[in-house]
Amino acid sequence: MLLCTFSAFGFQNTQIDYDALYKIKDEGLNNSQVMDIAWNLTDKIGPRLTGSEGLQKAYEWTSSQMREWGLTNVKVDSWGEFGKGWDVRKNYLAMTAPYYQAMIGIPKAWTPGTNGVLKAEAVYVDIQSESDMAKYKGKLKGKVVLMPTTVEATNNFEADARRLTEEELDGMTEETVRGGGSSFSAARIAEFRRAAQLRNAASQFFKDEGVAMILSTRRGGQGTFFTSNGSRNDPDALPEMEIAPEHYNRMVRLLTKGEPVSIEAETETDFHDTDLKAYNVFGEIQGSDPKLKDEIVMIGAHLDSWFAGTGATDNAAGSAVMMEVMRILKESGVPLKRTVRIGLWSGEEQGIYGSRNYVQNEFMNNGLPNKKHEQFSAYYNMDNGTGAIRGIYLQGNEAVRPLFTEWFKVFEGMGANTITIRNTGGTDHLAFDGIGLPGFQFIQDPVAYNTRTHHSNMDVYESLEAADLKKNAVIIATMVLQTANMDEKLPRKPKVFENLNRSR
Ligand SMILES: [Zn+2]
Repeated sequence: MLLCTFSAFGFQNTQIDYDALYKIKDEGLNNSQVMDIAWNLTDKIGPRLTGSEGLQKAYEWTSSQMREWGLTNVKVDSWGEFGKGWDVRKNYLAMTAPYYQAMIGIPKAWTPGTNGVLKAEAVYVDIQSESDMAKYKGKLKGKVVLMPTTVEATNNFEADARRLTEEELDGMTEETVRGGGSSFSAARIAEFRRAAQLRNAASQFFKDEGVAMILSTRRGGQGTFFTSNGSRNDPDALPEMEIAPEHYNRMVRLLTKGEPVSIEAETETDFHDTDLKAYNVFGEIQGSDPKLKDEIVMIGAHLDSWFAGTGATDNAAGSAVMMEVMRILKESGVPLKRTVRIGLWSGEEQGIYGSRNYVQNEFMNNGLPNKKHEQFSAYYNMDNGTGAIRGIYLQGNEAVRPLFTEWFKVFEGMGANTITIRNTGGTDHLAFDGIGLPGFQFIQDPVAYNTRTHHSNMDVYESLEAADLKKNAVIIATMVLQTANMDEKLPRKPKVFENLNRSR
């Protein structure tokens, strides 16, 4: 076996355990259960909005499945209070004049229902500034209001799904150097503020005027639309639905050309307030080394989703892969010196709440790192959709480059060998990175994440790529194997806490 002389961490750390790798690949590629796990989370359990009945079922199913596989310390653990839960019970929207047509639409999260069948005239309100509201005063009672929009649903001349090209991957290895100043100009920030103020003013105006329902649209096209949410704490919120741009635009064209439009809608939503807490799900495989078994290598993904689809690529994909990693490691019986723990988070979509609260509760005491912080090696996260892993973001941690470069060599044949110093944001590895623990997220092919699936009504089982998810589970299981068995814990970035103290 070739001794790796250029590594700063010596032979033991960069050496690949080929026997274990063979077992992992055999289990992960020939006996994969990743699509069955994903099917349970999507088709069977359904959407998993934090606080919903679906997420409750997902807590129960994932924990019982992990127990069945023989994982230890399996628990569904509260990270704190989230607030009221919410579920959609009925969802119906149609245009009834100038002719009948069913519309693709869904209630905005945490908005109330219509309280029976609503039949009403639609009004397009062209409100670009607060002074525009005056012209609608006294004219909106009992009406369905269409908010102004500029979304265009045109033909797509480019394929929705794609993989990263070699050129793009090469480009990612360059260090990003930011120019001076903030990435948001003062003018843009002022514009955001103005838009938010206008939204709030319009929302209050519609309540005061007695509007029956609000319709809006966002990004999308060809029947796909990307959803958002209303306020979780507005007891006077109006019923509100988001709809596919082409259906929305048709009504706007009719109205602006003077053709009356009528709407029929019936939505029913339920708020739950018996348990305001939200939870994370954990399971472990105990380490075998008497000295190292108290040290932790962790993997995770968020279990919660939005609700217009079944949260397949965001993030049943990541949750299924991480569960499959635990199953592969357990089933293949590969040696693991350190303890491996999985965390399936909730509240990610509302602000990375599950993992952020977990790391504070687990690794920090009064704002300072505790013993468990010291005993922690690394956290790997998956939350970029269904796409194949093409490499990893070092998250600014240059010291792990020699290790990851060696470990990824065996995955060149799977198209995964890009190591970039860059950071990536937006999900649960940030919780770990934020308290000075090594936390990583992988570079993945986008497939149709941004064009079709991410937070859309089309984030469903059919958008999952089975071969990609199988490969991802093998790659992550191997990363975990290597991290769990190396002599040292994974190197960290310069200690954030010392820096904090020094800068005071
Ligand atoms: Zn996500």
